[in-house]
Amino acid sequence: MIKTKCFFCKKNYTIDYSDAQYQKIKKNPKAHYVCKKCNESMQREAQSTTGLDPDIIDKYSKFLR
Ligand SMILES: [Zn+2]
Repeated sequence: MIKTKCFFCKKNYTIDYSDAQYQKIKKNPKAHYVCKKCNESMQREAQSTTGLDPDIIDKYSKFLR
């Protein structure tokens, strides 16, 4: 079990081997963890857009505040 924090929503999570990002965080504790909820919303954004659009950066920047 590893305690980590979501890069986007800043909530604390405890993940275990069942989490797809467990190995990544275990190897590199400084790697960014993205929780399932944020992951899903990011994937939706990616699916609904093609290429880089300045609007995407605005949408993502709200998660970084
Ligand atoms: Zn999150």
